[in-house]
Amino acid sequence: MSKVNVCNSVADDIKRHAYAFPTIEIYGWLLGYDYKDQLFVVSSVPCKQYKMQNQIIAEPSQEEVMEISKAIPRGIGIVGIYHSHVGKVFHSSTDNHTVKQFASVYPYFLSIVTNVKETKYYQLKDESVEEIKVKVSSIKVPQSIRFIAKAKINLPQGTELDIQTVSSRMREILESFEVKQIEYKQNLLSGSISTDKLEGNECFVRFSVFEDNLAKADDLVFTMDLHANICAQEKTTLSSIKPLMKQAFIDDMYYQLKNTIIAEGKISKPVRIEFLYDNVNWKFYVSKKDKESILSFLQLLEFRVEYFSSKNEKKRELMLKTIRNTKNNIEKEENFAKIAQIVEDLAKKI
Ligand SMILES: [Zn+2]
Repeated sequence: MSKVNVCNSVADDIKRHAYAFPTIEIYGWLLGYDYKDQLFVVSSVPCKQYKMQNQIIAEPSQEEVMEISKAIPRGIGIVGIYHSHVGKVFHSSTDNHTVKQFASVYPYFLSIVTNVKETKYYQLKDESVEEIKVKVSSIKVPQSIRFIAKAKINLPQGTELDIQTVSSRMREILESFEVKQIEYKQNLLSGSISTDKLEGNECFVRFSVFEDNLAKADDLVFTMDLHANICAQEKTTLSSIKPLMKQAFIDDMYYQLKNTIIAEGKISKPVRIEFLYDNVNWKFYVSKKDKESILSFLQLLEFRVEYFSSKNEKKRELMLKTIRNTKNNIEKEENFAKIAQIVEDLAKKI
């Protein structure tokens, strides 16, 4: 790894987070990407659900990491962690162990430790975790392109229509599909996608998950709109995006089906919400079964605004009021299309 770049707002946010909790350790995740052997940290997410938190330890809950990973676009991911020390800034053997574990999955993994006054950066170098120098400057989040695919499966009459059957059949099809054509504004078929063309980006992926030739008139039909948000770098090509796209569609399918209810032949699908926050596009599904994920995201947002946005007091108070009202409205609301509307309204206000 030749260079680590940290966005200056991330460095400030981490300090502010630690400043708000002077007597206990705080923890959070770093969001970013690597490109041409360089790591870029573009955003940070404070941990809200702790397994344990006191003066000498902060251990996050695994569920929160999962929620974050599912909600952010492909191409951006959790690239590191940060935590605070109440006293001296150093990397303990526990901290080293954590970095080694993460680095076995993601070699660029970064660890930031702060006590507000002082901030240090650590990475795994040749088997040992060492303090490194980073460049702190402003970094733009790469644009994400949104791919949409219509998927349809036919199930022979008599097949039990349940989540398990639908997901395994859908997965089979998604794994074998070939992207033949992508409609991208001027019908771009192949070659490179440059970032200057990504403004107002939305693509419709045309591929065959339709099995009309095999379908029988009395088949049960299950359709889904699949979404894949992918962050593109300068020289992203379609061939480089295809495997990411495929995985993103499969993940999206599972994420949607998790919140889909099939009962007595009736299907209630979740409503999809997109939310631009901190320059990162977050997506959530809301259904009768689960409005927990959107509520926990709003809790994160509230927490973040409360401790991170201290620059403009008036704006901060207004934002907090708006978020809290939204949370109250959602808790009372049972209609999930209305919940999606409430959150979309919030997204416009922030
Ligand atoms: Zn530590």
